[in-house]
Amino acid sequence: MLETDVLVAGAGPAGLLLAAELALGGVRTTIVERHPVRPPYCRGFNLNSRSLDLLARRGLAAGLVAEGHRVPHAPVTGLPGPLQLTDAATDHPFSLGIPQTRVEEVLEEWAADLGVDILRGHELRSFTQSPESVSTVVHNGRFGRTITARFLVGCDGGRSEVRKQAGIGFPGVDARWYALLGDVECELPYGVSAGPDGRTVFVIPRPGYVRVVVREDDPPADKYAPVTLERLQAQVDAVLGRHVELRSPRWLTRFGDAARLATHYREGRVLLAGDAAHIHPPAGAIGVNVALDDAFNLGWKLAATVRGTAPEGLLDTYHAERHTAGERILANTRAQVALDEAPDEPLADLMRRVAAHPAGNRALAEIITGLDARYEPGGHPWLGRLAPDVPLVVGATETHLAALLHPGRAVLLDLTGVFGAWSSAVEVVAASSPSTSDIDAVLLRPDGHAAWVGTPGAGDEGLAEAVRRWVGTNPVPAVSSGLPAGGE
Ligand SMILES: Cc1cc2nc3c(=O)[nH]c(=O)nc-3n(C[C@H](O)[C@H](O)[C@H](O)COP(=O)(O)OP(=O)(O)OC[C@H]3O[C@@H](n4cnc5c(N)ncnc54)[C@H](O)[C@@H]3O)c2cc1C
Repeated sequence: MLETDVLVAGAGPAGLLLAAELALGGVRTTIVERHPVRPPYCRGFNLNSRSLDLLARRGLAAGLVAEGHRVPHAPVTGLPGPLQLTDAATDHPFSLGIPQTRVEEVLEEWAADLGVDILRGHELRSFTQSPESVSTVVHNGRFGRTITARFLVGCDGGRSEVRKQAGIGFPGVDARWYALLGDVECELPYGVSAGPDGRTVFVIPRPGYVRVVVREDDPPADKYAPVTLERLQAQVDAVLGRHVELRSPRWLTRFGDAARLATHYREGRVLLAGDAAHIHPPAGAIGVNVALDDAFNLGWKLAATVRGTAPEGLLDTYHAERHTAGERILANTRAQVALDEAPDEPLADLMRRVAAHPAGNRALAEIITGLDARYEPGGHPWLGRLAPDVPLVVGATETHLAALLHPGRAVLLDLTGVFGAWSSAVEVVAASSPSTSDIDAVLLRPDGHAAWVGTPGAGDEGLAEAVRRWVGTNPVPAVSSGLPAGGE
């Protein structure tokens, strides 16, 4: 019998980041992961600009950037070239080539340092929830144990048991095609090799091996049936019309273009994040990145809820914000596949022309990477968006906006020195910014999104409401702020 505040099922990118965020927020967190050790193969190989921007809000991006390989564009399917990131709204105008497994290692180390208990070799089998708690049964291969938590989060991948047992619907479309994937050694050149009838084999360089991808003829009824080297070999040979030997298989699998989205991301004390909440076609290399985005959005909200400091309704904004993001991701990944499959359609021609236009190219890059995430409409361009990592001077110290967020707390960034009275309601940091002249102050949520932006002449109008909504503490300044407008 074990008690914890939050039990996270699954130690993939979503589960590890979420658990660390919860621990940063002062919440006892336990992860159960059914694999005793991290599997030796690696699925994803990139972090996009949005992920790097988010990770930088916790001081985690620079180390990864130093290790990885930068490319100045975002991957896309169905358009002639990648999308340029040079002018995109990001502090990291590049994609980072880095194994998903390495990102997981970094997150796991951070989570462990923050005190998260990680129980590997433990599978979540079942759970029941009451108004106060969730009681789970976890099995380690030899015996089962009960873990009781105040909340359970399913970060347990696309076939999520948590989602199924919570009775959360997963509507969408089945796969229309499957592809075989093999991490192998072979003499095929990198890129696309076409056979006599125009069908192709795709070869991606990987460290010490290559990843071979080929559409599968006659996939088995059970899409989870193991893929053998013989099957991959036969498919590659059939497509190329000749024999090319595949050797030393490291990982063989099958994937398709199914797209499904959980009907709701919360059912009482049970929540979903990452692939457990959405699956989509493999276009734009987005899966790890969306998983991190979900976890980053949920962590501080759930931590505040467990601590009892969350404003009314805060936890439900997780579904409101990330389910909407999930709908857009399904739409844009499916659209990329549609472009790829029908390059001669007028729509594909139109999209190629949009992508060839610098403004169109930038818009597509921001949409596909999730950089366009905006949780509040209208108002100042920063409102609802991830506030850019502008340089700041705090006292005599040069710093930057992202560094203020490393502790994971909301911050009222005061660029005029007149918002000090708000310190009874929210942490206030007085700073000057050489690059920001149209903002007096900005309320930053713990995830770095701007919840309120004060512009010159507007005083603190609307700030009390924003503090009430997102921070939940007493929104009344301790003493008269002396500001020209607003306040309560
Ligand atoms: C071939 C391939 C290539 C990909 N390439 C990319 C790419 O280049 N870029 C990108 O961004 N994404 C890529 N993805 C997608 C990416 O790998 C996933 O979207 C990402 O791993 C999702 O993270 P997650 O934490 O939600 O789930 P997962 O990483 O799937 O983690 C779920 C974890 O839960 C555990 N688990 C499951 N059930 C239980 C249970 N009952 N109890 C305890 N533990 C459980 C699993 O063992 C697993 O460790 C690729 C995927 C594939 C298949």
